[in-house]
Amino acid sequence: MRFAELAAAYERLEATTKRLEMRGILAELFRPLPAPELGRVLYLSQGLLRPEYEGVELGVADSLARRAVAIASGAEESAVATRAKAVGDLGTTAQELLASQSRLPGGSPLEVAEVYAGFESIARAKGEGSQEVKVRTVAELLARATPLEAKYLTRFVVGTLRVGVREMTILDALATAFADGSKEERGKIEAAFNLSSDLGLVATTLAERGTAGLAGIELEVGRPVRPMLAEREPTLEKLLERLGGRAAVEIKYDGLRVQAHIPRRGPVRLFSRRLEEIGAQFPELLDALPAAVREGPSIVEGECVPIDPDTDEIQPFQEVSRRRGRKYDLDRIQREIPVCLFLFDVLLAGGTPVYGLDFPERRSRLEGLVAPGDRIRLATQRVVTTPEEAGRFLDESIAAGGEGLMAKSMKPGSGYRAGARGFWWIKYKRDYTVGLVDSIDGVVIGGFHGRGRRAGRFGAYLLAVYDPTRDRFESFSKVGSGFDDAALAAMPDRLKGFESDEKPPRVDSGIEPDRWFRPGVVLEVRGAELTISPVHRAAEGTVRPGTGLALRFPRFTGRIRDDKGPTEATTSAELLRMYRMQVRQAAPTSDDAPEP
Ligand code: ATP
Repeated sequence: MRFAELAAAYERLEATTKRLEMRGILAELFRPLPAPELGRVLYLSQGLLRPEYEGVELGVADSLARRAVAIASGAEESAVATRAKAVGDLGTTAQELLASQSRLPGGSPLEVAEVYAGFESIARAKGEGSQEVKVRTVAELLARATPLEAKYLTRFVVGTLRVGVREMTILDALATAFADGSKEERGKIEAAFNLSSDLGLVATTLAERGTAGLAGIELEVGRPVRPMLAEREPTLEKLLERLGGRAAVEIKYDGLRVQAHIPRRGPVRLFSRRLEEIGAQFPELLDALPAAVREGPSIVEGECVPIDPDTDEIQPFQEVSRRRGRKYDLDRIQREIPVCLFLFDVLLAGGTPVYGLDFPERRSRLEGLVAPGDRIRLATQRVVTTPEEAGRFLDESIAAGGEGLMAKSMKPGSGYRAGARGFWWIKYKRDYTVGLVDSIDGVVIGGFHGRGRRAGRFGAYLLAVYDPTRDRFESFSKVGSGFDDAALAAMPDRLKGFESDEKPPRVDSGIEPDRWFRPGVVLEVRGAELTISPVHRAAEGTVRPGTGLALRFPRFTGRIRDDKGPTEATTSAELLRMYRMQVRQAAPTSDDAPEP
Protein backbone atom coordinates (compact mmCIF):
# COMPACT_ATOMS: atom_id res chain seq x y z
CA MET A 1 0.00 0.00 0.00
CA ARG A 2 1.18 3.47 -0.86
CA PHE A 3 1.76 5.77 2.07
CA ALA A 4 -0.16 8.43 0.06
CA GLU A 5 -3.36 6.41 0.48
CA LEU A 6 -2.89 6.30 4.22
CA ALA A 7 -2.19 10.04 4.35
CA ALA A 8 -5.34 10.69 2.32
CA ALA A 9 -7.37 8.59 4.76
CA TYR A 10 -5.88 10.54 7.70
CA GLU A 11 -6.84 13.76 5.98
CA ARG A 12 -10.45 12.60 5.71
CA LEU A 13 -10.46 11.38 9.30
CA GLU A 14 -9.15 14.70 10.49
CA ALA A 15 -11.97 16.51 8.75
CA THR A 16 -14.71 14.71 10.68
CA THR A 17 -15.68 14.22 14.29
CA LYS A 18 -18.52 11.82 13.56
CA ARG A 19 -17.82 8.35 14.86
CA LEU A 20 -19.89 6.65 12.16
CA GLU A 21 -18.08 8.45 9.41
CA MET A 22 -14.71 7.58 10.95
CA ARG A 23 -15.72 3.97 11.18
CA GLY A 24 -16.60 4.00 7.45
CA ILE A 25 -13.30 5.59 6.44
CA LEU A 26 -11.30 3.14 8.54
CA ALA A 27 -13.26 0.07 7.42
CA GLU A 28 -12.64 1.05 3.83
CA LEU A 29 -8.96 1.50 4.59
CA PHE A 30 -8.61 -1.85 6.41
CA ARG A 31 -10.71 -4.18 4.27
CA PRO A 32 -8.42 -4.75 1.27
CA LEU A 33 -5.22 -5.08 3.28
CA PRO A 34 -3.32 -8.33 3.73
CA ALA A 35 -2.55 -9.25 7.33
CA PRO A 36 1.00 -7.89 7.80
CA GLU A 37 0.15 -4.62 6.09
CA LEU A 38 -3.00 -4.28 8.19
CA GLY A 39 -0.96 -4.69 11.35
CA ARG A 40 1.42 -1.92 10.33
CA VAL A 41 -1.45 0.40 9.36
CA LEU A 42 -3.15 -0.22 12.69
CA TYR A 43 -0.13 0.59 14.78
CA LEU A 44 0.81 3.62 12.68
CA SER A 45 -2.72 4.99 12.93
CA GLN A 46 -2.47 4.93 16.70
CA GLY A 47 0.88 6.71 16.54
CA LEU A 48 2.65 3.48 17.50
CA LEU A 49 5.01 0.91 16.02
CA ARG A 50 4.15 -1.91 18.37
CA PRO A 51 1.35 -2.51 20.89
CA GLU A 52 1.47 0.27 23.45
CA TYR A 53 2.49 -1.95 26.36
CA GLU A 54 5.82 -2.72 24.68
CA GLY A 55 6.71 0.94 25.15
CA VAL A 56 8.63 1.24 21.85
CA GLU A 57 9.41 4.88 21.15
CA LEU A 58 11.03 6.69 18.25
CA GLY A 59 12.90 9.00 20.60
CA VAL A 60 13.15 11.89 18.14
CA ALA A 61 13.28 15.21 19.96
CA ASP A 62 11.44 18.14 18.40
CA SER A 63 14.72 19.84 17.59
CA LEU A 64 15.89 16.81 15.61
CA ALA A 65 12.59 16.66 13.72
CA ARG A 66 12.91 20.35 12.85
CA ARG A 67 16.38 19.75 11.54
CA ALA A 68 15.09 16.90 9.36
CA VAL A 69 12.34 19.14 7.97
CA ALA A 70 14.93 21.84 7.27
CA ILE A 71 17.16 19.40 5.38
CA ALA A 72 14.28 17.99 3.33
CA SER A 73 12.80 21.39 2.46
CA GLY A 74 15.98 23.35 2.08
CA ALA A 75 14.70 25.95 4.55
CA GLU A 76 16.79 27.37 7.38
CA GLU A 77 16.33 25.52 10.65
CA SER A 78 15.46 28.78 12.40
CA ALA A 79 12.79 29.51 9.80
CA VAL A 80 11.29 26.05 10.39
CA ALA A 81 11.24 26.71 14.12
CA THR A 82 9.65 30.15 13.77
CA ARG A 83 6.98 28.90 11.42
CA ALA A 84 6.22 25.83 13.54
CA LYS A 85 5.82 28.05 16.56
CA ALA A 86 3.39 30.33 14.71
CA VAL A 87 1.33 27.45 13.28
CA GLY A 88 1.58 25.30 16.40
CA ASP A 89 2.25 22.15 14.41
CA LEU A 90 5.46 20.93 12.82
CA GLY A 91 3.45 18.64 10.50
CA THR A 92 1.61 21.50 8.82
CA THR A 93 4.87 23.43 8.68
CA ALA A 94 6.57 20.59 6.82
CA GLN A 95 3.61 20.37 4.45
CA GLU A 96 3.72 24.11 3.70
CA LEU A 97 7.46 24.24 3.25
CA LEU A 98 7.52 21.31 0.87
CA ALA A 99 4.55 22.69 -1.10
CA SER A 100 6.18 26.09 -1.49
CA GLN A 101 9.27 24.49 -2.96
CA SER A 102 7.31 23.50 -6.06
CA ARG A 103 9.57 20.49 -6.23
CA LEU A 104 8.65 16.97 -7.15
CA PRO A 105 9.29 14.42 -4.46
CA GLY A 106 12.51 12.62 -5.26
CA GLY A 107 12.68 8.85 -5.84
CA SER A 108 9.85 6.36 -5.98
CA PRO A 109 6.56 6.89 -4.13
CA LEU A 110 6.65 5.87 -0.47
CA GLU A 111 5.18 2.55 0.55
CA VAL A 112 3.66 2.04 4.00
CA ALA A 113 6.07 -0.83 4.60
CA GLU A 114 9.07 1.41 3.86
CA VAL A 115 7.87 4.14 6.16
CA TYR A 116 7.26 1.60 8.90
CA ALA A 117 10.72 0.05 8.40
CA GLY A 118 12.27 3.53 8.50
CA PHE A 119 10.55 4.29 11.80
CA GLU A 120 11.64 0.93 13.18
CA SER A 121 15.26 1.70 12.43
CA ILE A 122 14.86 5.09 14.11
CA ALA A 123 13.46 3.42 17.23
CA ARG A 124 16.36 0.94 17.25
CA ALA A 125 19.06 3.60 16.93
CA LYS A 126 20.73 3.92 20.32
CA GLY A 127 23.87 5.47 21.71
CA GLU A 128 26.54 7.50 20.04
CA GLY A 129 25.69 8.82 16.60
CA SER A 130 22.10 7.70 16.92
CA GLN A 131 20.79 11.24 16.69
CA GLU A 132 22.40 11.70 13.31
CA VAL A 133 20.91 8.40 12.14
CA LYS A 134 17.48 9.53 13.27
CA VAL A 135 17.68 12.91 11.55
CA ARG A 136 19.00 11.38 8.36
CA THR A 137 16.33 8.69 8.22
CA VAL A 138 13.49 11.17 8.76
CA ALA A 139 14.99 13.57 6.21
CA GLU A 140 15.28 10.79 3.62
CA LEU A 141 11.64 9.79 4.09
CA LEU A 142 10.57 13.44 3.86
CA ALA A 143 12.61 13.95 0.71
CA ARG A 144 10.47 11.35 -1.02
CA ALA A 145 7.20 12.56 0.48
CA THR A 146 4.44 14.67 -1.05
CA PRO A 147 3.48 17.67 1.10
CA LEU A 148 0.46 15.80 2.48
CA GLU A 149 2.55 12.72 3.30
CA ALA A 150 5.11 14.98 4.96
CA LYS A 151 2.42 16.40 7.23
CA TYR A 152 1.54 13.01 8.69
CA LEU A 153 5.06 11.59 8.61
CA THR A 154 6.27 14.54 10.65
CA ARG A 155 3.40 14.35 13.09
CA PHE A 156 4.12 10.68 13.65
CA VAL A 157 7.77 11.46 14.34
CA VAL A 158 7.03 14.14 16.92
CA GLY A 159 4.25 12.08 18.50
CA THR A 160 1.33 14.31 17.55
CA LEU A 161 -0.40 12.07 15.04
CA ARG A 162 -3.82 12.55 16.47
CA VAL A 163 -6.37 11.68 13.90
CA GLY A 164 -8.94 11.42 16.64
CA VAL A 165 -9.39 7.69 16.35
CA ARG A 166 -10.05 5.95 19.61
CA GLU A 167 -9.56 2.27 20.19
CA MET A 168 -13.30 1.70 20.28
CA THR A 169 -13.71 3.29 16.84
CA ILE A 170 -10.98 1.07 15.46
CA LEU A 171 -12.76 -1.98 16.91
CA ASP A 172 -16.00 -0.81 15.26
CA ALA A 173 -14.20 -0.44 11.96
CA LEU A 174 -12.63 -3.90 12.24
CA ALA A 175 -16.09 -5.37 12.90
CA THR A 176 -17.44 -3.61 9.82
CA ALA A 177 -14.54 -4.67 7.65
CA PHE A 178 -14.06 -8.27 8.75
CA ALA A 179 -17.22 -9.46 10.52
CA ASP A 180 -20.93 -9.33 9.89
CA GLY A 181 -21.23 -6.16 11.97
CA SER A 182 -23.49 -7.87 14.55
CA LYS A 183 -23.23 -7.06 18.23
CA GLU A 184 -22.06 -10.56 18.93
CA GLU A 185 -19.16 -10.45 16.49
CA ARG A 186 -18.21 -6.99 17.69
CA GLY A 187 -18.18 -8.39 21.23
CA LYS A 188 -15.78 -11.16 20.23
CA ILE A 189 -13.41 -8.66 18.67
CA GLU A 190 -13.44 -6.46 21.74
CA ALA A 191 -12.94 -9.45 24.02
CA ALA A 192 -9.87 -10.51 22.04
CA PHE A 193 -8.48 -6.99 22.37
CA ASN A 194 -9.17 -6.90 26.11
CA LEU A 195 -7.29 -10.16 26.57
CA SER A 196 -4.32 -9.31 24.38
CA SER A 197 -4.14 -5.50 24.60
CA ASP A 198 -2.86 -5.69 21.03
CA LEU A 199 -5.02 -4.22 18.26
CA GLY A 200 -2.50 -5.23 15.62
CA LEU A 201 -2.72 -8.87 16.67
CA VAL A 202 -6.52 -8.78 16.70
CA ALA A 203 -6.66 -7.17 13.28
CA THR A 204 -4.21 -9.52 11.59
CA THR A 205 -5.97 -12.53 13.11
CA LEU A 206 -9.28 -11.24 11.77
CA ALA A 207 -7.85 -10.62 8.31
CA GLU A 208 -6.37 -14.11 8.18
CA ARG A 209 -9.00 -16.23 9.87
CA GLY A 210 -12.07 -14.10 10.56
CA THR A 211 -13.83 -13.93 13.91
CA ALA A 212 -13.53 -17.70 14.35
CA GLY A 213 -9.77 -17.23 14.51
CA LEU A 214 -10.07 -14.90 17.49
CA ALA A 215 -10.71 -17.85 19.78
CA GLY A 216 -7.04 -18.69 19.23
CA ILE A 217 -5.93 -15.50 20.99
CA GLU A 218 -5.19 -16.66 24.50
CA LEU A 219 -3.45 -15.27 27.51
CA GLU A 220 0.26 -15.07 27.14
CA VAL A 221 2.80 -14.29 29.80
CA GLY A 222 4.40 -10.95 28.94
CA ARG A 223 1.29 -9.61 27.24
CA PRO A 224 -0.82 -7.66 29.75
CA VAL A 225 -4.55 -8.14 30.08
CA ARG A 226 -6.71 -5.02 30.24
CA PRO A 227 -7.83 -4.80 33.85
CA MET A 228 -11.31 -5.51 35.16
CA LEU A 229 -12.76 -2.39 36.79
CA ALA A 230 -15.22 -1.72 39.55
CA GLU A 231 -18.50 0.15 39.77
CA ARG A 232 -19.73 1.85 42.91
CA GLU A 233 -22.84 1.98 45.03
CA PRO A 234 -23.62 4.63 47.64
CA THR A 235 -24.58 2.32 50.50
CA LEU A 236 -23.70 -1.13 51.74
CA GLU A 237 -27.39 -2.12 51.46
CA LYS A 238 -27.52 -1.25 47.78
CA LEU A 239 -24.20 -2.91 47.19
CA LEU A 240 -25.36 -6.21 48.67
CA GLU A 241 -28.67 -6.04 46.90
CA ARG A 242 -26.86 -5.56 43.62
CA LEU A 243 -24.72 -8.64 44.23
CA GLY A 244 -27.71 -10.80 45.05
CA GLY A 245 -27.53 -10.65 48.85
CA ARG A 246 -24.19 -12.41 49.12
CA ALA A 247 -20.76 -11.10 48.33
CA ALA A 248 -17.09 -11.72 48.83
CA VAL A 249 -15.76 -8.57 50.45
CA GLU A 250 -12.09 -7.77 50.45
CA ILE A 251 -9.93 -5.07 51.93
CA LYS A 252 -9.55 -2.31 49.40
CA TYR A 253 -5.84 -1.66 49.57
CA ASP A 254 -4.81 1.82 48.62
CA GLY A 255 -1.79 1.35 46.47
CA LEU A 256 -0.82 0.55 42.94
CA ARG A 257 -2.54 -2.12 40.92
CA VAL A 258 -0.06 -4.67 39.63
CA GLN A 259 -0.52 -7.44 37.11
CA ALA A 260 2.29 -9.92 37.60
CA HIS A 261 3.39 -12.21 34.78
CA ILE A 262 5.39 -15.17 35.98
CA PRO A 263 6.86 -17.39 33.28
CA ARG A 264 7.80 -21.02 33.89
CA ARG A 265 11.38 -19.88 33.68
CA GLY A 266 12.93 -16.46 33.30
CA PRO A 267 12.22 -12.98 34.54
CA VAL A 268 8.91 -11.89 36.06
CA ARG A 269 7.24 -8.86 34.51
CA LEU A 270 4.94 -6.39 36.22
CA PHE A 271 2.37 -4.19 34.51
CA SER A 272 0.48 -1.19 35.85
CA ARG A 273 -3.22 -0.47 35.46
CA ARG A 274 -2.26 1.41 32.31
CA LEU A 275 -0.28 -1.62 31.11
CA GLU A 276 3.07 0.08 31.53
CA GLU A 277 5.92 -2.14 32.54
CA ILE A 278 6.83 -1.17 36.12
CA GLY A 279 8.91 -4.09 37.36
CA ALA A 280 12.09 -2.05 37.65
CA GLN A 281 10.51 -0.04 40.49
CA PHE A 282 9.81 -3.12 42.58
CA PRO A 283 12.84 -5.40 42.64
CA GLU A 284 11.64 -7.03 45.88
CA LEU A 285 8.48 -8.23 44.11
CA LEU A 286 10.45 -9.54 41.14
CA ASP A 287 12.54 -11.54 43.60
CA ALA A 288 9.66 -12.83 45.70
CA LEU A 289 7.15 -13.78 43.03
CA PRO A 290 8.82 -16.84 41.50
CA ALA A 291 8.98 -18.48 44.93
CA ALA A 292 5.52 -17.40 46.05
CA VAL A 293 3.75 -18.47 42.89
CA ARG A 294 4.13 -22.23 42.90
CA GLU A 295 3.75 -22.83 39.21
CA GLY A 296 4.36 -20.86 36.02
CA PRO A 297 3.34 -19.64 33.59
CA SER A 298 0.88 -17.66 35.66
CA ILE A 299 -0.74 -14.24 35.63
CA VAL A 300 -1.97 -12.85 38.94
CA GLU A 301 -3.27 -9.49 40.00
CA GLY A 302 -2.97 -7.55 43.21
CA GLU A 303 -2.45 -4.22 44.87
CA CYS A 304 1.04 -3.14 45.84
CA VAL A 305 1.31 -1.15 49.07
CA PRO A 306 4.21 0.04 51.22
CA ILE A 307 4.67 -1.73 54.52
CA ASP A 308 6.54 -0.64 57.63
CA PRO A 309 9.13 -3.41 58.08
CA ASP A 310 9.09 -3.04 61.89
CA THR A 311 5.38 -2.93 62.59
CA ASP A 312 4.13 -4.64 59.42
CA GLU A 313 1.59 -1.84 59.06
CA ILE A 314 0.43 -0.52 55.72
CA GLN A 315 1.94 2.89 55.02
CA PRO A 316 0.51 5.83 53.08
CA PHE A 317 0.94 5.27 49.42
CA GLN A 318 3.10 8.38 48.89
CA GLU A 319 5.99 6.32 50.25
CA VAL A 320 5.97 4.40 46.99
CA SER A 321 5.90 7.44 44.75
CA ARG A 322 9.35 8.22 46.13
CA ARG A 323 10.61 5.32 44.06
CA ARG A 324 9.93 6.88 40.70
CA GLY A 325 13.08 7.81 38.87
CA ARG A 326 15.37 6.96 41.77
CA LYS A 327 17.30 4.08 40.38
CA TYR A 328 20.24 4.46 42.70
CA ASP A 329 18.30 4.96 45.89
CA LEU A 330 16.13 1.96 45.29
CA ASP A 331 18.22 -0.33 47.45
CA ARG A 332 17.83 1.86 50.50
CA ILE A 333 14.14 2.65 49.91
CA GLN A 334 13.48 -1.03 49.43
CA ARG A 335 14.96 -1.73 52.84
CA GLU A 336 13.29 1.17 54.62
CA ILE A 337 9.84 0.91 53.08
CA PRO A 338 9.46 -2.37 51.26
CA VAL A 339 6.25 -3.08 49.41
CA CYS A 340 3.90 -5.96 49.74
CA LEU A 341 1.67 -7.26 46.97
CA PHE A 342 -1.79 -8.29 48.14
CA LEU A 343 -3.05 -10.66 45.46
CA PHE A 344 -6.76 -10.65 44.66
CA ASP A 345 -7.13 -12.47 41.36
CA VAL A 346 -5.64 -15.02 39.02
CA LEU A 347 -6.07 -15.17 35.25
CA LEU A 348 -3.60 -17.83 34.26
CA ALA A 349 -2.66 -20.56 36.72
CA GLY A 350 0.28 -22.78 35.82
CA GLY A 351 -0.51 -22.48 32.12
CA THR A 352 -4.27 -22.96 32.49
CA PRO A 353 -6.45 -19.97 31.63
CA VAL A 354 -8.81 -19.52 34.59
CA TYR A 355 -10.10 -16.01 33.91
CA GLY A 356 -13.43 -17.38 32.71
CA LEU A 357 -14.14 -19.23 35.96
CA ASP A 358 -16.53 -17.74 38.49
CA PHE A 359 -14.91 -15.67 41.19
CA PRO A 360 -15.15 -18.15 44.08
CA GLU A 361 -13.42 -20.72 41.91
CA ARG A 362 -10.71 -18.25 40.90
CA ARG A 363 -10.11 -17.35 44.53
CA SER A 364 -9.62 -20.96 45.47
CA ARG A 365 -7.24 -21.42 42.51
CA LEU A 366 -5.36 -18.36 43.73
CA GLU A 367 -5.10 -19.83 47.22
CA GLY A 368 -3.81 -23.07 45.77
CA LEU A 369 -1.29 -21.35 43.54
CA VAL A 370 0.25 -18.93 46.02
CA ALA A 371 2.41 -19.61 49.04
CA PRO A 372 2.11 -16.31 50.91
CA GLY A 373 5.16 -14.73 52.51
CA ASP A 374 6.45 -11.33 53.59
CA ARG A 375 6.23 -9.66 50.23
CA ILE A 376 3.43 -11.61 48.55
CA ARG A 377 0.16 -12.14 50.37
CA LEU A 378 -3.47 -12.79 49.64
CA ALA A 379 -6.05 -10.01 49.93
CA THR A 380 -8.05 -10.45 53.13
CA GLN A 381 -11.47 -11.71 52.17
CA ARG A 382 -14.77 -12.65 53.83
CA VAL A 383 -18.15 -13.71 52.57
CA VAL A 384 -20.98 -11.52 53.89
CA THR A 385 -24.74 -11.63 53.57
CA THR A 386 -25.89 -8.58 55.54
CA PRO A 387 -25.03 -4.87 55.46
CA GLU A 388 -24.07 -5.12 59.14
CA GLU A 389 -21.50 -7.81 58.41
CA ALA A 390 -20.22 -5.75 55.51
CA GLY A 391 -20.05 -2.70 57.80
CA ARG A 392 -18.00 -4.57 60.36
CA PHE A 393 -15.66 -5.74 57.64
CA LEU A 394 -15.35 -2.14 56.43
CA ASP A 395 -14.24 -1.04 59.91
CA GLU A 396 -11.72 -3.85 60.04
CA SER A 397 -10.49 -2.97 56.60
CA ILE A 398 -9.92 0.67 57.58
CA ALA A 399 -8.24 -0.41 60.79
CA ALA A 400 -5.90 -2.61 58.75
CA GLY A 401 -4.91 0.36 56.58
CA GLY A 402 -7.37 -0.18 53.73
CA GLU A 403 -9.32 2.68 52.22
CA GLY A 404 -12.61 0.82 52.04
CA LEU A 405 -13.82 -2.46 50.70
CA MET A 406 -14.17 -4.21 47.37
CA ALA A 407 -17.28 -6.33 47.10
CA LYS A 408 -17.20 -9.03 44.45
CA SER A 409 -19.94 -11.01 42.82
CA MET A 410 -19.93 -14.73 43.59
CA LYS A 411 -22.74 -15.49 41.17
CA PRO A 412 -22.53 -17.73 38.12
CA GLY A 413 -21.10 -15.58 35.35
CA SER A 414 -18.67 -13.81 37.66
CA GLY A 415 -15.73 -14.56 35.41
CA TYR A 416 -12.95 -11.96 35.00
CA ARG A 417 -14.21 -9.24 32.64
CA ALA A 418 -11.03 -7.88 31.11
CA GLY A 419 -11.22 -4.20 30.26
CA ALA A 420 -14.78 -3.84 31.56
CA ARG A 421 -16.23 -1.77 34.34
CA GLY A 422 -19.31 -3.39 35.82
CA PHE A 423 -21.21 -4.40 38.92
CA TRP A 424 -19.32 -7.66 39.36
CA TRP A 425 -16.91 -5.63 41.44
CA ILE A 426 -18.20 -2.79 43.57
CA LYS A 427 -15.86 -0.45 45.36
CA TYR A 428 -16.91 1.21 48.55
CA LYS A 429 -14.52 3.75 49.91
CA ARG A 430 -14.38 5.24 53.31
CA ASP A 431 -15.08 8.71 51.97
CA TYR A 432 -18.51 7.54 50.81
CA THR A 433 -19.43 7.05 54.43
CA VAL A 434 -20.12 10.06 56.60
CA GLY A 435 -17.03 11.12 58.49
CA LEU A 436 -13.90 9.44 59.51
CA VAL A 437 -14.41 5.79 60.27
CA ASP A 438 -11.26 5.56 62.37
CA SER A 439 -11.84 6.41 65.98
CA ILE A 440 -9.23 8.28 68.00
CA ASP A 441 -8.28 7.59 71.59
CA GLY A 442 -7.68 10.97 73.19
CA VAL A 443 -6.32 11.84 76.63
CA VAL A 444 -8.34 14.30 78.72
CA ILE A 445 -6.15 17.32 79.56
CA GLY A 446 -8.78 19.95 80.36
CA GLY A 447 -12.42 20.71 81.14
CA PHE A 448 -14.79 23.56 80.22
CA HIS A 449 -17.67 24.72 82.41
CA GLY A 450 -21.06 23.74 81.02
CA ARG A 451 -23.91 26.13 80.32
CA GLY A 452 -27.68 25.70 80.30
CA ARG A 453 -28.54 22.15 81.19
CA ARG A 454 -24.90 21.47 81.82
CA ALA A 455 -24.39 24.37 84.19
CA GLY A 456 -22.56 23.43 87.37
CA ARG A 457 -20.44 20.74 85.79
CA PHE A 458 -18.03 20.33 82.91
CA GLY A 459 -19.81 20.47 79.55
CA ALA A 460 -16.82 19.71 77.31
CA TYR A 461 -13.29 18.33 77.55
CA LEU A 462 -10.00 19.12 75.94
CA LEU A 463 -8.33 16.04 74.43
CA ALA A 464 -4.77 15.31 73.41
CA VAL A 465 -2.87 12.74 71.41
CA TYR A 466 0.51 11.54 72.60
CA ASP A 467 3.79 12.22 70.86
CA PRO A 468 6.29 9.61 72.11
CA THR A 469 9.25 11.23 70.39
CA ARG A 470 8.70 14.54 72.19
CA ASP A 471 6.98 12.92 75.19
CA ARG A 472 4.22 15.45 74.93
CA PHE A 473 0.44 15.44 75.10
CA GLU A 474 -0.75 17.67 72.27
CA SER A 475 -4.32 18.93 72.09
CA PHE A 476 -6.38 18.13 69.00
CA SER A 477 -10.02 18.54 70.05
CA LYS A 478 -12.59 20.03 72.36
CA VAL A 479 -15.35 17.49 72.65
CA GLY A 480 -18.82 18.11 74.09
CA SER A 481 -21.18 15.97 72.06
CA GLY A 482 -21.83 12.31 72.54
CA PHE A 483 -22.04 12.51 76.34
CA ASP A 484 -25.38 11.55 77.75
CA ASP A 485 -26.38 12.81 81.20
CA ALA A 486 -25.06 9.75 82.95
CA ALA A 487 -21.69 9.97 81.22
CA LEU A 488 -21.36 13.68 81.99
CA ALA A 489 -22.21 13.05 85.59
CA ALA A 490 -19.73 10.20 85.87
CA MET A 491 -16.78 12.07 84.35
CA PRO A 492 -15.69 14.17 87.37
CA ASP A 493 -15.43 11.01 89.39
CA ARG A 494 -13.25 9.41 86.79
CA LEU A 495 -11.04 12.45 86.68
CA LYS A 496 -10.63 12.73 90.43
CA GLY A 497 -7.03 13.01 91.45
CA PHE A 498 -5.93 14.37 88.07
CA GLU A 499 -7.04 17.98 88.58
CA SER A 500 -4.38 20.64 88.29
CA ASP A 501 -4.45 24.35 88.96
CA GLU A 502 -2.00 25.13 86.25
CA LYS A 503 -1.00 23.65 82.95
CA PRO A 504 0.59 20.29 83.76
CA PRO A 505 4.08 19.53 82.48
CA ARG A 506 4.23 17.69 79.14
CA VAL A 507 0.85 19.11 78.10
CA ASP A 508 0.70 21.44 75.12
CA SER A 509 -2.26 23.41 73.80
CA GLY A 510 -3.02 26.87 72.50
CA ILE A 511 -6.35 26.69 74.30
CA GLU A 512 -6.79 27.56 77.97
CA PRO A 513 -9.49 25.38 79.57
CA ASP A 514 -11.36 26.29 82.74
CA ARG A 515 -9.63 23.44 84.48
CA TRP A 516 -6.48 21.51 83.62
CA PHE A 517 -6.15 17.77 84.13
CA ARG A 518 -2.99 15.76 84.28
CA PRO A 519 -3.04 13.06 81.57
CA GLY A 520 -4.74 9.92 82.90
CA VAL A 521 -8.15 9.26 81.35
CA VAL A 522 -8.54 8.13 77.74
CA LEU A 523 -11.75 8.66 75.74
CA GLU A 524 -12.66 7.20 72.36
CA VAL A 525 -13.92 9.83 69.91
CA ARG A 526 -14.90 10.02 66.27
CA GLY A 527 -15.22 13.04 64.01
CA ALA A 528 -16.01 14.25 60.55
CA GLU A 529 -12.48 15.00 59.44
CA LEU A 530 -9.07 16.18 60.50
CA THR A 531 -8.13 19.73 59.64
CA ILE A 532 -5.22 22.04 60.36
CA SER A 533 -5.67 24.37 63.29
CA PRO A 534 -3.85 27.39 64.68
CA VAL A 535 -4.78 26.57 68.30
CA HIS A 536 -4.24 22.83 68.54
CA ARG A 537 -0.76 21.35 68.80
CA ALA A 538 -1.09 17.76 67.56
CA ALA A 539 1.64 16.95 65.03
CA GLU A 540 2.47 20.63 65.06
CA GLY A 541 4.47 21.92 62.13
CA THR A 542 4.33 18.70 60.13
CA VAL A 543 1.66 19.86 57.69
CA ARG A 544 2.26 23.59 57.90
CA PRO A 545 4.60 25.61 60.13
CA GLY A 546 2.91 26.89 63.26
CA THR A 547 -0.25 24.81 62.91
CA GLY A 548 -1.43 21.57 64.46
CA LEU A 549 -4.15 19.09 63.59
CA ALA A 550 -7.72 19.26 64.86
CA LEU A 551 -10.71 16.97 64.69
CA ARG A 552 -13.85 18.59 63.25
CA PHE A 553 -17.23 17.73 64.78
CA PRO A 554 -15.81 15.49 67.46
CA ARG A 555 -18.13 13.10 69.22
CA PHE A 556 -17.52 10.88 72.27
CA THR A 557 -18.39 7.28 71.35
CA GLY A 558 -19.39 6.51 74.96
CA ARG A 559 -16.36 4.36 75.48
CA ILE A 560 -13.84 5.28 78.16
CA ARG A 561 -10.68 3.38 77.33
CA ASP A 562 -9.94 1.96 80.74
CA ASP A 563 -7.71 -0.55 79.04
CA LYS A 564 -5.36 2.22 77.95
CA GLY A 565 -2.99 4.39 79.86
CA PRO A 566 -2.34 7.93 78.60
CA THR A 567 0.80 7.01 76.66
CA GLU A 568 -1.15 4.27 74.86
CA ALA A 569 -3.54 6.82 73.37
CA THR A 570 -3.50 7.60 69.67
CA THR A 571 -0.16 9.14 68.74
CA SER A 572 0.48 12.35 66.85
CA ALA A 573 2.07 10.32 64.06
CA GLU A 574 -1.06 8.21 63.72
CA LEU A 575 -3.17 11.32 63.56
CA LEU A 576 -0.93 12.70 60.86
CA ARG A 577 -1.26 9.45 58.91
CA MET A 578 -5.04 9.68 59.16
CA TYR A 579 -4.93 13.27 58.00
CA ARG A 580 -2.80 12.34 54.99
CA MET A 581 -5.05 9.46 54.03
CA GLN A 582 -7.90 11.92 53.95
CA VAL A 583 -6.01 14.38 51.86
CA ARG A 584 -5.12 11.69 49.40
CA GLN A 585 -8.70 10.55 49.09
CA ALA A 586 -9.97 14.05 48.56
CA ALA A 587 -7.58 14.53 45.66
CA PRO A 588 -9.20 14.17 42.23
CA THR A 589 -9.13 10.60 40.99
CA SER A 590 -9.69 8.98 37.66
CA ASP A 591 -13.19 8.19 38.95
CA ASP A 592 -14.48 11.32 37.37
CA ALA A 593 -12.87 10.75 34.04
CA PRO A 594 -15.14 9.65 31.20
CA GLU A 595 -15.27 5.96 30.43
CA PRO A 596 -12.58 4.87 28.00
P1 ATP B 1 -10.77 2.34 38.74
O1 ATP B 1 -9.63 1.38 38.76
O2 ATP B 1 -12.06 1.73 39.19
O3 ATP B 1 -10.88 3.13 37.50
P2 ATP B 1 -9.16 3.97 40.45
O4 ATP B 1 -7.96 3.63 39.67
O5 ATP B 1 -9.36 5.40 40.86
O6 ATP B 1 -10.51 3.46 39.79
P3 ATP B 1 -10.19 2.99 42.83
O7 ATP B 1 -11.38 3.82 42.61
O8 ATP B 1 -9.44 3.24 44.06
O9 ATP B 1 -9.14 3.07 41.69
O10 ATP B 1 -10.70 1.47 42.82
C1 ATP B 1 -10.31 0.44 42.04
C2 ATP B 1 -8.92 -0.09 42.36
O11 ATP B 1 -8.81 -0.57 43.68
C3 ATP B 1 -8.50 -1.29 41.56
O12 ATP B 1 -8.14 -0.95 40.28
C4 ATP B 1 -7.34 -1.83 42.37
O13 ATP B 1 -6.17 -1.16 41.98
C5 ATP B 1 -7.65 -1.39 43.77
N1 ATP B 1 -7.88 -2.49 44.72
C6 ATP B 1 -7.48 -2.49 46.01
N2 ATP B 1 -7.84 -3.59 46.65
C7 ATP B 1 -8.50 -4.37 45.76
C8 ATP B 1 -9.11 -5.65 45.84
N3 ATP B 1 -9.14 -6.36 46.96
N4 ATP B 1 -9.71 -6.12 44.71
C9 ATP B 1 -9.69 -5.40 43.57
N5 ATP B 1 -9.11 -4.19 43.44
C10 ATP B 1 -8.53 -3.67 44.52
